[in-house]
Amino acid sequence: MGEEKREVIFRDTRRYYCEFCGLCRSKKSLIASHIQSHHQDEMDSLKDEANENAKRKEGSKMNVCEECGVSFQKPAHLKQHMQSHSLEIEVV
Ligand SMILES: [Zn+2]
Ligand SMILES: [Zn+2]
Repeated sequence: MGEEKREVIFRDTRRYYCEFCGLCRSKKSLIASHIQSHHQDEMDSLKDEANENAKRKEGSKMNVCEECGVSFQKPAHLKQHMQSHSLEIEVV
């Protein structure tokens, strides 16, 4: 007797990992400050990529009328709409 059973207990302590190098910290704020001091360049380039992707998506999907700002899903619809504009000008 006297044999101690050692159970491995996983403590429920939150762990936060740096998404760039995998560094582990117990607080999210520590990771945030680590990223700011070590991975500022990576963060900036990620943001730029995301912004450019968003712009490209919008540009390819939206066909916006320059006259009134109405957007159409298909360029053909925008064309038709623009024709109605040129008609309107004569009527109004
Ligand atoms: Zn890191
Ligand atoms: Zn229009």
